[in-house]
Amino acid sequence: MKVNIVSLTCCAGCVSSFLNAGDALLEILSQDFDIVYSPTFVDLKEVPQVDLAIVEGGVRTEADEKLIREVRAKSRILVALGICATHGGITSLGNIISVKKLLEKEYFVLETSKLPELEDLMYPICNFVDVDYYIPGCPPMPFLIVHSLKSIVSGKTPTRHQSVVCTECNRKIIAAKLDRLYGIYDKEADPNLCLVSQGFVCLGSLTREGCGAPCPRAGFTCFGCRGPTDSLLYRSRDLYSFLVKVISKRTSIPEEEVKKELYRNPFIFHTFIFSKFERFKARERII
Ligand code: SF4
Ligand code: SF4
Ligand code: SF4
Repeated sequence: MKVNIVSLTCCAGCVSSFLNAGDALLEILSQDFDIVYSPTFVDLKEVPQVDLAIVEGGVRTEADEKLIREVRAKSRILVALGICATHGGITSLGNIISVKKLLEKEYFVLETSKLPELEDLMYPICNFVDVDYYIPGCPPMPFLIVHSLKSIVSGKTPTRHQSVVCTECNRKIIAAKLDRLYGIYDKEADPNLCLVSQGFVCLGSLTREGCGAPCPRAGFTCFGCRGPTDSLLYRSRDLYSFLVKVISKRTSIPEEEVKKELYRNPFIFHTFIFSKFERFKARERII
């Protein structure tokens, strides 16, 4: 199968994650993929016609928009890889200030005339083109990328992950009695108990499973990089109140107190809400 691997505005972490798949990567490269275009692998400037395009990153520049439209027109199947491509992701944090302020703040040492023309906001690619499969994550885990791509190349629908990260986390959920929330470095976490039951703000109960819960298993809170799970997909306004209820239930802290604590850290939801995305055409395409 002929494959294009395309990078729009991003950190290139998703393609790096794909490269980390080890033997599974070698297998897919030797048996299934003929990569004909990729800034990482191949020195080719023109975008060729292919069976499959894998796209990381979102649309922040006019060049991104032109490229994604061309890539779509020249691909039979298009896969959005990583939460920048699927939802806007961490790169859409820039959406909270104007383009003018963004350039003044981050690029004051450069001549802005030498920078690419920017769109008004950072957008996920589904705002511009039809997407066949979305594999969210920042970055998606190597095994998830390889399993999903293997299914796609063999003509099967990849396994969907419809539940939440809590189902992959071995920590025990209890209704604790706490009087405040904690930052992850404020105290040592018990290795067996749910982090929310210990007063940490973990987004596992809102977030699509499929990553294997590496963060809470290692003692860090889930920051939601797989995006909202199916039941919360089209209800972004409910994410906040849902999280407030979960935290209040697992800590016994009154909901009003939880709200005040969360309000102090609006970046908790950056991977969910700062991008400007249109509705996914079909949730069945989210892996
Ligand atoms: S989703 Fe994360 S890892 Fe992938 S390109 Fe965006 S910022 Fe980088
Ligand atoms: S909230 Fe976090 S720590 Fe608690 S069970 Fe869910 S994923 Fe695990
Ligand atoms: S546990 Fe959460 S933050 Fe960590 S990889 Fe999974 S979805 Fe992403």
